[in-house]
Amino acid sequence: MYDVVIVGSGPAGYVAAIRASQLGLKTACIEKSFDINGKPLLGGTCLNVGCIPSKALLDSSYKYAEALNHFSDHGIEVNKPKLDLSKMMNRKNNIITQLTSGVSGLFEANKVTSILGEAKILDSTQVEVSFEGKAEVINTKHVIIASGSSPIDIPTAPIDQENIVDSTGALVFDSVPKKLAIIGAGVIGLELGSVWARLGSKVTILEAMDEFLPMADKRIARDVLRELKKQGLDINLGCKVTAARSSAKGVKVLFEDDKESHELEVDKLIVAVGRKPNTANLLGENCGITLDERGFIPVNNLCETLVKNIWAVGDVVRGPMLAHKASEEGIMVVERITGKHAEIKYDLVPFVIYTHPEVAWVGKNEEELSEAGIDFKTGSFPFAANGRALAAGETTGFVKVIADKETDTVLGVHAFGPSAADIIQQGVVAMESGVSAEGLGLTIFSHPTVSEALHEAALAVNRQAIHIRNKKNKIIKN
Ligand code: FAD
Ligand code: AMP
Repeated sequence: MYDVVIVGSGPAGYVAAIRASQLGLKTACIEKSFDINGKPLLGGTCLNVGCIPSKALLDSSYKYAEALNHFSDHGIEVNKPKLDLSKMMNRKNNIITQLTSGVSGLFEANKVTSILGEAKILDSTQVEVSFEGKAEVINTKHVIIASGSSPIDIPTAPIDQENIVDSTGALVFDSVPKKLAIIGAGVIGLELGSVWARLGSKVTILEAMDEFLPMADKRIARDVLRELKKQGLDINLGCKVTAARSSAKGVKVLFEDDKESHELEVDKLIVAVGRKPNTANLLGENCGITLDERGFIPVNNLCETLVKNIWAVGDVVRGPMLAHKASEEGIMVVERITGKHAEIKYDLVPFVIYTHPEVAWVGKNEEELSEAGIDFKTGSFPFAANGRALAAGETTGFVKVIADKETDTVLGVHAFGPSAADIIQQGVVAMESGVSAEGLGLTIFSHPTVSEALHEAALAVNRQAIHIRNKKNKIIKN
């Protein structure tokens, strides 16, 4: 009998398993994918086909594009760099192996039992595990469902993983497509589009919505669109793909805007229209959980399902599909199982888009605050006025701090620019302690760092920024 059985070994499941063992719970983690040695393949989407491989390719392709286009800005003349795509892919694969085997090592060190097979939840005390036609039932006091998500497949563009691929297929192309189309200008579409555009593809992105990055700060969304177009991403808004046909020559993509229908011939098509929860065949008839209309497992803020002692965390439940949100939910649940008081401040989950420059934010944006009837003030600071950004030749973008008009409490931080993800993390830490804009302005930031743009933006909230010439102490109009 286990204290806790966890279904899925992605960032929700494996992190929950390690913490559960640390807390003294007898823990098993069930994973259905396996590696070439027939061992459970740990790490889920994030380590195998998500965050890590995409960032490995983003980093490699960025270095290539820098060598190709920007080394000479620094007075470095090199012969035209030559791309060795298979070496780039091998490097990415080695990073995946290093991390996934690292998780296996952590399981061993923490005495987590790793079980290979597909899990089905029979009830709150029994989980059936099937592998190669054999099934066994495992008994437990608690079940944590962390079965994650998979790419959405749309009938208009059926995935063949050859010419029409999902995000997983787009991480393993064996040559750079000359012409590449992407359906969806969401986070995954933009990141994968950036990788292949930097490596030489002519990239066309087709997005059904008229608005670009609707969840981001409006000005940032506008600037990102302009910058990515400058980098060669042909982003078309208000364009709905109606059909895609794969042939020996490539893919014919049919799409329509508000006026007419269009046809586009490409070598490859990436379908990046979102992800769906992995809940097919997961719940036994008598387990007591009913999925919501989109297939997610309904949970409250504490990740409790309607059935006592069955919990669900990560991409398989509501909220943003992000690895760090998934991991924190996993930790919260096992802490609660052991009687600890733990909860998640969902308002403080940071969002990052790893384009170049990066886009990141935490907390509320201006539209959300206006809708909620909250009075606020803002301060912005451009990287063009930041010494370190200038030194690096990374002057695109700005940081914006939003604070409550009366109390001065920071309500949101938004950034587009160099190391925006890391700058936002400082905003998260600050907001976690309920910091005011004045308090953030009184904090010492190392010089010269791009983080000083956050410092100056916080100062600008109360019109005290130092490196702004504008009389109103407000270099960027909001
Ligand atoms: P998953 O990682 O999907 O893991 C679920 C695991 O459960 C899988 O291993 C699956 O095989 C297993 N499983 C499912 N059903 C069963 C069953 N019945 N029995 C046994 N095992 C089962 N997020 C970020 O925060 N930052 C990023 O930069 C980022 N980049 C991304 C890039 C791409 C291309 C993609 C696709 C995603 C990216 N994400 C990123 C999202 C991130 O990968 C997910 O939010 C995260 O992996 C969710 O973790 P999870 O543990 O809930 O699920
Ligand atoms: P995300 O969910 O952030 O990964 O983004 C997926 C994007 O794909 C959304 O912005 C959708 O509007 C877009 N999308 C979905 N279906 C289509 C389609 N048929 N044609 C063009 N864009 C689409």
